[in-house]
Parts: sequence; structure tokens; C-alpha cells
Amino acid sequence: MIDIKSYGMADMSALFKQLGEPSFRAKQVFRWLHRGVTSFEQMSDLSKALREKLAAQCTISSLQVERKQVSAIDGTIKYLWRLPDGNCIETVLMRYKHGNTVCISCQVGCRMGCAFCASTLGGKIRDLTPAEMLDQVLFTQLDSGEQISNIVLMGIGEPLDNFDTVMRFLELVNSPDGLNIGMRHISLSTCGLAEKIDLLAQQHLQLTLSVSLHAPDDETRSKIMPVNRAFNVGRLMKACHDYFKVTGRRISFEYAMIDGVNDSDAQADMLARMVKGIAAHVNLIPLNHVEESPLKPSRRVKQFQQRLEEQGITVTVRRRLGSDIDASCGQLRRKAMNEQQESGKEADT
Ligand code: SAH
Repeated sequence: MIDIKSYGMADMSALFKQLGEPSFRAKQVFRWLHRGVTSFEQMSDLSKALREKLAAQCTISSLQVERKQVSAIDGTIKYLWRLPDGNCIETVLMRYKHGNTVCISCQVGCRMGCAFCASTLGGKIRDLTPAEMLDQVLFTQLDSGEQISNIVLMGIGEPLDNFDTVMRFLELVNSPDGLNIGMRHISLSTCGLAEKIDLLAQQHLQLTLSVSLHAPDDETRSKIMPVNRAFNVGRLMKACHDYFKVTGRRISFEYAMIDGVNDSDAQADMLARMVKGIAAHVNLIPLNHVEESPLKPSRRVKQFQQRLEEQGITVTVRRRLGSDIDASCGQLRRKAMNEQQESGKEADT
């Protein structure tokens, strides 16, 4: 069966040509799909014969709400979706003054192994499809009734570890016949797969690249982020410099503040030296404590911020939206998995 919602316009046109249908039909179907219909039956301007022909060959993906949590503090909504194969993924809808932002997942789990992150605890189960990524935006929009203007690829998974899918997803959401979300309204966050950053630069997209740096020196970074053993800080910064040179887009560096690990003045100075010259912006993230991890939130966020600012670096401290609803990466999925295991155990005994 064809996963038709993962198709870009080129594939869609080819399919309709092969079916012997006029090319405008491809656009019609594309538009229906991107409005979130879940069956060909709903495509009321297609003939019954064509709808049946499509239904015989194609499936239309969809997501089921497994859990939904709404923050009483700031209205942030966290969705835990159930995929048809039983796996779960998370999406977060955040409301900002400048519009609604949706934070989406790109993999079921993650294989990057960062020491502070809940998403990677059970490893990677599988990559998502372009349709499953798109569905997170579509179904969040449909369920919440809110128009979404910004997308951040900062949920579960490593986007550059699912590169081709993510590129297709970007094409889909960017399409004028679909959600038509501009590249400048999209951010992609990576743990630092330098070779893939090089590849991304060649796509010349106007999206915002966020790099999860979390430490300016190899010794610390390798301890908390295994990816650093494959691409060390020097290699990563080279990729970032080249990315900036090629795209002209400023890079945002994510830095989760961990007590006694990466929050010293010396590390702030090193960080300042590193990011100078690439119009970078540093985003300090107060660490969200993950139960399974011994790492604690830093108490030096303010001092660290000041020290960077004194050296001319633009710094923001991430606001904690949805702190009452397990809104950070992988926490809700983790909780649901643990609960499922618990009830499984009870059933066994
Ligand atoms: N794999 C991508 C995107 C997913 S995570 C990446 O690594 O960038 C989005 C951001 O949240 C990353 O910067 C990640 O390092 C950070 N993060 C993960 N767990 C965290 C935690 N417990 N506290 C604070 N930030 C965390």
C-alpha cells in the first residue's frame, strides 16, 4: 500500500499520471490530505470510481490521542499520540505572543544517548515517516482548533538521523497547497551530527538551525553526549561555521545548565570564544530533572548568562512552558511506558 500522505507533489503527480488521471487531481488530493481528512470518502469532489481506486492502493495515516495534558499555568498542551503499530510519540503545542508553535517528534525513541535526556532511555525503536511527522501538526491543529504558525523539530528523536524523511516533511509543510508554513518559521535542533549539518547546508533552506552544544570542551561533552566521540567540538564548530557561511543564517546554540558539569565561569568563557564570529545566539535551558538520571539543574544560570553577555554574546534563558505537565522531551512517553510495564507486571503475577 502507498503511504500517500508522505508523497510530495512530484510523487503525487506521477501517481495520478500512472492512474491515467488528469494532473489537477493530484493537487486536489494533496489539498484534502493536508486538511487532515482520514478517508478518501471525504474527498467529495472526486468521483466514486476514483475514490475507490485510490482506497484500493493507498492508506491515509492518522494519529489517535492516547493522552492529552493541558497546562493550568500557560495553556501548553501536550499530546501523546498512538501510532497504528502501537508505538507512542509526543507533540507539544506552545502559545506565544507571536503565534502558536508546535514541537514535534521525528523518531520513536532516540539512539543518541545523551545523559540528561528522557527520550533516549529506551533507545530508538524506529524512524517516523514524513506523514507521521506531518500528522503531528495537522492533528494538533484539528484537535486544539488553533492555527499553527511555527514548527520546532525538538521533540523525541534526532532529526538529522532521519534526514531524508525530515527533508520531505519540510517540503510538505512548506507547500503552498498544504500548510504553507514558511521555512523561517521552522527550527531544527540537532545534537551535532556534523556531516549531516554539512549536508543540510547544501539544501540552502532558510530554517533556523539549533545545535545542542551543552559543553564547550570535548572532555565534558563526550561525558554527557556520546555523539561527541564521533564528531568532536572542533568538527562540530567547523560545520557550524560553514553552515553560517553558506546559508547566512545565524545558529542558535542550546545549552542545558547542569550542576557542577558545564556551568563554570571557565566554560562560559570558552563558550563565548567559540561562538563569536558566527552571529550565534545562546539559549540557556534550565535542566529538567529526569528521574533516571543523577544530573541536577545548575544554580548558576544567571551568573553564566551574565558572563556570556559581558563578552558580547546574545543570550536567552528558555522559559519553562508546561512545567506542570511533563512537557519536556520524552517525559510523557516515558511515563506512559513505565505505567504500561507496571500494569503488565501486575497482570503477570
Ligand atoms: N535530538 C535533537 C532534538 C531533540 S531535544 C537535539 O539533540 O537537539 C531538544 C532539546 O532539549 C535539545 O537541546 C536537548 O539537548 C534538550 N534536552 C533534552 N533533555 C533535556 C533535559 N532533561 N533538560 C533540558 N534540556 C533537555
